[in-house]
Amino acid sequence: MHVEINCKNDYKRFELEEAAHWVADKLMSKRLHKNIYLEIELVSNLKKESNAIGFSEITGDNWRPRDFKIVLDSKLSNRATIRTLMHEMVHIKQWSRGELKEITKPECKTLWFDEDHTETEYQDQPWEIEAYVLQEPLADAYIKMIKSEI
Ligand SMILES: [Zn+2]
Repeated sequence: MHVEINCKNDYKRFELEEAAHWVADKLMSKRLHKNIYLEIELVSNLKKESNAIGFSEITGDNWRPRDFKIVLDSKLSNRATIRTLMHEMVHIKQWSRGELKEITKPECKTLWFDEDHTETEYQDQPWEIEAYVLQEPLADAYIKMIKSEI
């Protein structure tokens, strides 16, 4: 995975890159992991402006997507930053493995395992449920791994 991070804080940049690689290894095959291009952007006041602490999007082709961007609020605590990164990385796993699909032709639709979920409410979206279920255990496991290395 090629990771590019716009963050002036060297330590935070290093940690985000480490964590992104670590979780990509957990969630994706080696081959898939190798072919992902990921941009991570930290934005101040993201929460104020968009009411989200983080989001992710496909930046390249929607068909078998491999290019992604994650935007995180720069004011989050370290723990919340890692937890939110894990949440967004679950979405990148879902898109890149084709579990979650955004199609635009003949019309815009969101598919989950090829089932139409375009009209599903946020709290019922199965990809969000999976990301919320996994974010905490992934963050815990990553932080535990980092601590055991020191
Ligand atoms: Zn989400």
